[in-house]
Amino acid sequence: MSITSLMPAYLQNLQPYESPSENAPEGMIWLNTNEYPTATKYELRFETLNRYPEVQPLAFRKRYAKYAGVNAEEVLMTRGADEAIELLIRTFCATLSDAVLYALPTYSMYGISAQTCGVDIQTVAPARDLKLNIDGLCRALRSEDRVKVVFLCNPNNPTGELLSRTSILKVLQAARDTIVVVDEAYIEFCPQASCADLIAQYPNLVIVRTLSKAFALAGLRCGVILAQKEVIGALRKVLAPYPVPEPVGAIALKALSDGGVAAMRQRVQLVIQTRRLLQTELQKLAGVRTVYPSETNFVLFSVDNPEAVYQTLWKKGVAIREPGSDKGVLRVSVGTIEECQTFIEKLRQVLKEVK
Ligand code: PMP
Repeated sequence: MSITSLMPAYLQNLQPYESPSENAPEGMIWLNTNEYPTATKYELRFETLNRYPEVQPLAFRKRYAKYAGVNAEEVLMTRGADEAIELLIRTFCATLSDAVLYALPTYSMYGISAQTCGVDIQTVAPARDLKLNIDGLCRALRSEDRVKVVFLCNPNNPTGELLSRTSILKVLQAARDTIVVVDEAYIEFCPQASCADLIAQYPNLVIVRTLSKAFALAGLRCGVILAQKEVIGALRKVLAPYPVPEPVGAIALKALSDGGVAAMRQRVQLVIQTRRLLQTELQKLAGVRTVYPSETNFVLFSVDNPEAVYQTLWKKGVAIREPGSDKGVLRVSVGTIEECQTFIEKLRQVLKEVK
């Protein structure tokens, strides 16, 4: 008996997720997954772990609601934004008939999660300079009635592009019977661009957030969904019974305290300063073609031979990301200043070696 043959056909050829860090040599500089480069200490005591945790911790939802400018009943906690993405697809798309839609290039998990749910994927090719083709996306929305969820990543991963409010409103107006998900994983780096204030007006708007980036808590696995309470109610029908482990709820609550939010804002300032330095240094390197503008904690740049540059940098102890597009681009996360300087130095050597 083949175990694989017991799986639905649409799952049999998927590859399990493997982190590049799994078999990596010691001492690597990790600039590949857009994490914050240093950790905050949390000291906690747990005396009630014999009990199941609160299903949706109210104290956290109240704090997050205040932080995001919505009501507590419009907040749902998930195991990372990745679970939020999958949950949205599972809740609103029927297996083997419905589709999700997104413009390229963007975050890969929209497609991967759709595949694991047996949901079709419709994509729109990039506009000039790898920009998201919003007009194309709106046309696709008007002509495709199988699309139940459309994803917009703002600012976008891997390009760092920030969409205008007009673009988001255009998509909302084109999406009559479709859930519009705006993934704001990196919004803390450009908070003025959030569209959380549009939730009151648009019953089909869903915002995805995470504590993995500016809150420096990627290891916590804490994501947040913001939407009107009817959407939250629908998602709760599908969400696992106790999705927020007690320690996660407790640390997340501290991260959203006044002091936690102030520390996050300081981190953001530091990341932005370091990013500017990184962009300036990248622009100076012979062999780097385009350095894309970014409103995030990462920078996209193009080189002639991205695969070889990526591999050679890895051998020199620096991990960056090859986002896979035909434009010859690589993505580097903003690390500490020292990490960024080492990266620039090694990239300078690599560009000479792999000409
Ligand atoms: N959305 C985007 C755009 C991301 O880049 C990421 C993580 N790289 C996520 C969602 C997932 O975040 P989390 O760690 O909360 O699962």
